[in-house]
Amino acid sequence: MSSPDTEFISILNASNLGADPETRPATKAMPDSLPILGLADVVIFPGLIVPLVVDTKEGGQLIDDVVAGDRFIGLVLQRNADVESPTPKDLHAHGCAGRVTKMLKNSDNTVRVLVEGVRRFKVSRYTSRKPYLKAKVRYLSSVAGDSVELTALTRNARKAFEEVVELSPGLSESVKEAAENTDDAGRLSDLIAANLSLALEERQELLASHEVVERLSRLLPLLHREREVLILGSKIQKDVAGSMSRTQREHFLREQIRAIQRELGESDPAAEEADELARQIEENELPEEVVVVARKELARLQQTPPSSGEHAIIRNYLDWIVHLPWNKRTEDRLDLDEAARILDAGHHGLSKIKDRLLEFLAVLKLRQSLKGPLLCLVGPPGVGKTSLGKSVAEALGRKFLRIALGGVRDEAEIRGHRRTYIGAMPGRFIQGLRKAGSSNPVILLDELDKVGGDSRGDPAAALMEALDPQQNQTFTDHYLDLPFDLSGALFIATANWLDPIHPALRDRLEVIELPSYTTSEKVQIAKRHLVPRQLAEHGLTRSQARIQDAALRGMVEQYTREAGCRQLDREIAAVARKAARSIAGSRGKRKVFNVSGASLPKLLGPPKFESETAGRVTQCGIAIGLAWTPVGGEILFIEATKMPGSGKLILTGSLGEIMKESAQTALSYLRSNADDIGVPAQDFEKNDIHVHVPAGATPKDGPSAGVAIVMALTSLLTRRRVRSDLAMTGEISLRGRVLPVGGVKEKLLAAVRAGVKRVILPERNRKDWDEAPAEVRDRIRVSFARQISDLNPLAILKK
Ligand code: ADP
Repeated sequence: MSSPDTEFISILNASNLGADPETRPATKAMPDSLPILGLADVVIFPGLIVPLVVDTKEGGQLIDDVVAGDRFIGLVLQRNADVESPTPKDLHAHGCAGRVTKMLKNSDNTVRVLVEGVRRFKVSRYTSRKPYLKAKVRYLSSVAGDSVELTALTRNARKAFEEVVELSPGLSESVKEAAENTDDAGRLSDLIAANLSLALEERQELLASHEVVERLSRLLPLLHREREVLILGSKIQKDVAGSMSRTQREHFLREQIRAIQRELGESDPAAEEADELARQIEENELPEEVVVVARKELARLQQTPPSSGEHAIIRNYLDWIVHLPWNKRTEDRLDLDEAARILDAGHHGLSKIKDRLLEFLAVLKLRQSLKGPLLCLVGPPGVGKTSLGKSVAEALGRKFLRIALGGVRDEAEIRGHRRTYIGAMPGRFIQGLRKAGSSNPVILLDELDKVGGDSRGDPAAALMEALDPQQNQTFTDHYLDLPFDLSGALFIATANWLDPIHPALRDRLEVIELPSYTTSEKVQIAKRHLVPRQLAEHGLTRSQARIQDAALRGMVEQYTREAGCRQLDREIAAVARKAARSIAGSRGKRKVFNVSGASLPKLLGPPKFESETAGRVTQCGIAIGLAWTPVGGEILFIEATKMPGSGKLILTGSLGEIMKESAQTALSYLRSNADDIGVPAQDFEKNDIHVHVPAGATPKDGPSAGVAIVMALTSLLTRRRVRSDLAMTGEISLRGRVLPVGGVKEKLLAAVRAGVKRVILPERNRKDWDEAPAEVRDRIRVSFARQISDLNPLAILKK
């Protein structure tokens, strides 16, 4: 068995161009008998030179003998390509006699030969089988004649063949040239048959036919078919190329550029970056309208020189839009028991507040919608508002995102700057959402009361739009200039107090108030939450650093003065640092670091807050008031003095209008009741009175200092001191009534923190006292006043 050597293609016998060897007068008589070589999958035509590989033993011997003799060989197609040593019945009847022009023996015992097809033959009979087949043959001459039909067929075939050569990438120009130069119709038909992609059977039939007209007639339809196939093929290819989307084509081209650059050992960061962006645009699950914009921007990016500023702007923009969690959501988990467990695990006490939060979550669960009021946690700093917000997120299985609104004055901070701005950025919502990585996080709007407003637009209006369920499905950030759906987010706000919040926003709030903590609450919070967390953060175990309760109490009372736990947390961190240093520095010798109340000065320095009141009320004209501020209660020293003058009242210490009026009222009351307190009327006329409230930088306002101002003035005018361990709160009327005030719990806690032992409250605030924490009630003696005349015996010391 032999097959064509695939390293070669059929080549033309150039020396014989123009004449059919079958019709050419034979220079040498052809032998009647030929050794027969079976061909597995090639049909040899006269006039063609074909390389063959012979890989059987018989074949090898046949070639040896042929080459040693006249070099003629009979080449016959096998009926079945798989037969190794064909017998006569395995072979077709017609073959082509060829001449071996070259032979090459390979080291693997195969033989390469170059054979030139010479003449068609038909096997008459086989004469021997061993060592290889030999047969008597009858040569067939091509019958052409000179008919008009032949001329027409020849022309047609030549033209069709030229077209085929042009259309097929596999056929070279030289084949076309050969066809042009072949005048003989029989020779042309064989040339075409050899080069057309035909089935073996078709070729064999063409070989078996010695009638040229018949051969050409058979070939013509095959040629037309081939031409059609090639035309269709190229059309399909064009269509496919055309149907590739622009981006695909661009991608394809960019790939090619990249390949070229790789070959050259260059890399193009801009192209790589653009590719990466293109990939992200297609893969990052962006909404359709975002994809459209992103593709457009990417095209713009690629046309912009990387060195230009515009390039950076576009790239930055694309970077934002491909990374936003447009469609990414987390699954809600709304198991109320689990939520309760999470809230309890993170927070000591606060049971009412936790209940309110659980109720809120329950409603959320039933209603399956976030539309409704905006939850707002109101209270002084450090009482756990942020941390409760985090726990709500955890309970819902949502991402948590805190947006600090403190000091936000410009609308652009909420809604972003337009891209034309240098250094433009999206607003805080979009920035936060990118960080959160989901479009339905719990968003904590921290310090809603600190949102300001000025000429640069109203941030509150932008906030309102972001929070409004009717509008926030299409919240449009100026920078993105694309609507982002915020409606899946759950908003929780925090504030220290409600007054400064924009009324329209305030209307939407569902307020949950968080009060200040008492000392023992703080100690418990520290013990259960702050200490374990700080120890863990400092790489310490509970047994390595033992902080006693007395130390925690000491930290609360002498090193912090706050409503919440922030400073306390910092002090604990400071202690933990010292513990870590001591244990790590001892090279294993020190195993336990003990912190007692007495060791605090060594670790934290001298106490920062001694009893504030001690030693301050040493003179006449000083009284302690109690004030409520957004950051918790505070004590307030009211100082009054007099000097010769004309009865004027001077007020200093950043007092608000209402407080000034209180002072005025107090003075008028005393003046009209001068007799009752035993002060001569001319004292008022001949003196100017100055009331000052120290800590002048802090603005102070509200009516509740009225009682304390009256007492400071009384003390000044009667020259009798006010009790130094007493603080008071209450509004006064011109007629001397003591009116109720708000924020009593915070004020009482502040009084305890400051070391005050006695407090005077308005009678109508009695119920607040009843609700005060036991810890406060144990440490303070309270008195109630209905009118100013009740105060003197309680507050003023006897001479
Ligand atoms: P806010 O947001 O109200 O200013 P934070 O949530 O930041 O306060 O709280 C300050 C610190 O005090 C946090 O470390 C917080 O975990 C802790 N904290 C406050 N209240 C509690 C509490 N009831 N239980 C446990 N830790 C608390």
